[in-house]
Amino acid sequence: MKHKLSLFENAIDSLNESLSLFESAQTKGVDRYKFAILNLCHFAELLFKYFAYLIEPDKVLFKTKHGEKKSIGLWKALEILDSNKAPIEKNLKDDLEWIKNLRNDIEHYEFTYSASEVELFSGRILNAVMKYSNEYSDIELLWNINENLKTIVLNLCKNYNDKLDIALAIVKEKEDLDYADCLSNGGMETYWYKYTCPQCDQPTFISDSDSETGYKCIFCGNTDSDEMEYTCDSCSNLWPKSELSYFDYTGEGDYRYMCPVCLHHPDYVKDS
Ligand SMILES: [Zn+2]
Ligand SMILES: [Zn+2]
Repeated sequence: MKHKLSLFENAIDSLNESLSLFESAQTKGVDRYKFAILNLCHFAELLFKYFAYLIEPDKVLFKTKHGEKKSIGLWKALEILDSNKAPIEKNLKDDLEWIKNLRNDIEHYEFTYSASEVELFSGRILNAVMKYSNEYSDIELLWNINENLKTIVLNLCKNYNDKLDIALAIVKEKEDLDYADCLSNGGMETYWYKYTCPQCDQPTFISDSDSETGYKCIFCGNTDSDEMEYTCDSCSNLWPKSELSYFDYTGEGDYRYMCPVCLHHPDYVKDS
């Protein structure tokens, strides 16, 4: 079967590959960064070519007099964008230059790098590219990244505000998906919730099926909050955790959450 990827899909494919290499570097060692860098450069080149293609397709993909298929490189793509009111910030250009030089060394010469330097530059590039995509193409790049790799982007971002932007984008996507879920269910409420995290004070504390408590803060990783809602094990109604009692139901280690109504708390039963 022939496999044809569009410029954009091809770019995202390289980005996913790069991120999974960053991820595997955590367990298999930072020598994986070599391939993570190669894929990250490939991603940046294809993505900016894609943006340039949207503006001037004939200048990006063309045929020579002899019918040979040709395409431009990263810097030419950036030039096209610069001259068409979609300029690339100098900081991003500098970072791209740094990583392209490193890639060049990897491909042709000897190379050295420090892992923290690679992470810093990669995180900065990813964040700047995401902002650019959002601003000039209305593309939320993060939403195109494989679900299990989104936290890698978050981890690569070292700057507080950049990291927060990524965390908020991850939460926004989940919120939109939940809203769509709710609509398709005829307006039935789902069990996805968002709270302000008591630890970092950001609106990034959300339902998370992988977390032991069922909730997790995307930004700081905290998994506990008095506000998060749990189901009463007796009546199945939802209550904030702080209002539920957790106790040994049978006296034999069978712990359950019980709401004040089921426990006949005077504040809740006096009217009934
Ligand atoms: Zn938090
Ligand atoms: Zn109850």
